[in-house]
Amino acid sequence: MAGRRADLRRSGSVANLAGGGNEEALPQPPGDLVAVPAGLWGGFCPRYTATSVCEITPELLTRLGIRAVILDLDNTLVPWHGEALDEAVEDWIRQLRAAGFRLCIASNTHRPGRLRRLAERLQVLYATRVAKPRRGGFVRAMAAMQALPEETAVIGDQLLTDIWGGNRCRLLTILVNPLSPKEFIATRVISRSVERWLLARFTARGWIRPLPAGRNGE
Ligand SMILES: [Mg+2]
Repeated sequence: MAGRRADLRRSGSVANLAGGGNEEALPQPPGDLVAVPAGLWGGFCPRYTATSVCEITPELLTRLGIRAVILDLDNTLVPWHGEALDEAVEDWIRQLRAAGFRLCIASNTHRPGRLRRLAERLQVLYATRVAKPRRGGFVRAMAAMQALPEETAVIGDQLLTDIWGGNRCRLLTILVNPLSPKEFIATRVISRSVERWLLARFTARGWIRPLPAGRNGE
């Protein structure tokens, strides 16, 4: 257990954890915050979809009752196996931290050095050896963020890892478009084929929902 805990390290300075969150701003859950569909395939269905992380504003997350966010790394924050952070993504992370959100990158990457460097640059927590869709990494991330499942969102680009794992932990799941077509060959050949099949069925059933407006009434 101690070894597993040691995998989750705090980066150099984590102002968002010291800030204590934004409890005063928490609203009641809105009417459009409904559970993922039940049934055989429901666990693979994201609660919402977005084109990129930058679409997911702090105001919207607050409205959804979210205080902590678990982030996928490859093809969600940076291109697969890359370290080049887009300025817009860095700015988005800064906005979330400034708004008091607790953030943790949970990645299946086998290159922990790259994950550490990116987490330190973004000043967020990170968890290694997560093995999504297994639940352990998500649970460790929530423990580090001192967050409950009902106030935690998962943002990622893959149904079979990020979304399925997040739904298994009953977190709010948001699917984003992958940043780049370049990825692990098994992901590109197998996982994406399964995803296309699933997304076609979710779309036919009306289960795919874009993000709601960021502020009430807008
Ligand atoms: Mg990914």
